[in-house]
Amino acid sequence: MRDHTREEFVAWLAENALTPRRIAVLTGAGISAESGIPTFRGTDLLWRDMDPAELFTVEALQAQTQLVWEMYDELRTRIAAASPNAGHTALAALAHHRELTLATQNIDGLHQRAGSDAVLELHGNLWRLRCDHCRYHEENTQTPLQALPPACPGCDGILRPDIVLFSEPLPVDALLQAREAAANCDVILVIGTSGVVYPAAGLPLIARAHGAYVVEINPFETPLSHEADFSIRAPAARALPWLAEILSAE
Ligand code: NAD
Ligand code: ZN
Repeated sequence: MRDHTREEFVAWLAENALTPRRIAVLTGAGISAESGIPTFRGTDLLWRDMDPAELFTVEALQAQTQLVWEMYDELRTRIAAASPNAGHTALAALAHHRELTLATQNIDGLHQRAGSDAVLELHGNLWRLRCDHCRYHEENTQTPLQALPPACPGCDGILRPDIVLFSEPLPVDALLQAREAAANCDVILVIGTSGVVYPAAGLPLIARAHGAYVVEINPFETPLSHEADFSIRAPAARALPWLAEILSAE
């Protein structure tokens, strides 16, 4: 693996006479990897010998409520102990210099903790809990939770995290805003996502179809790599500080 250097990126911008003003960003689990939050495709994939991807389903939540809630509770506790990394921080700083729309597939809230506003959460957030019976919802940052599964204060049901489980639809407003940003940007940064979870993975394609450049930041090749105009094969926390600095320059 060889990192594209910042010099190569500067040269590429110059070759294309590109000074991006409107920047769309799509982040996935990879941007939080260096904060110690495991991705679904990483090496520390298993949770108690089970594939977490199979536990992030409505079926698992219904059939194995206690077990699945133990996983969410552990994940929340792990995220609470983690900190945003230099990649999250660089994106928050870039928003002060450019028209930037940040859409994330992450449910960890680390972009917000790094100072990003108006984050479009395509897959929800682990720090919001909701009841599907009575529509009660709350912000809840307690770790670990006192009782699992947490009881709904509004009815005799239980709460679930306000996240998008596999096969559930995405929040319409966030998705529409992310699509609009993709259709109207000069450059889209695709950071730390495997590019296989639709419809989020469609955003770079929308941007491309509208004439934007696609820049991928991922240490490994992904199914989206062949759509990218420029690939930075480096960890996000290493590449984003210099990338954001270059993109912020007048
Ligand atoms: P993914 O786990 O499928 O893929 C992670 C991607 O990140 C891979 O392509 C990998 O090569 C890349 N990556 C690994 N380390 C990186 C680094 N240091 N810098 C940049 N890239 C790196 O993640 P996904 O595409 O986001 O999809 C999985 C789903 O799982 C998402 O929908 C998300 O909601 C959920 N999820 C969220 C979190 C989180 O909130 N932190 C963590 C795991 C899974
Ligand atoms: Zn309820």
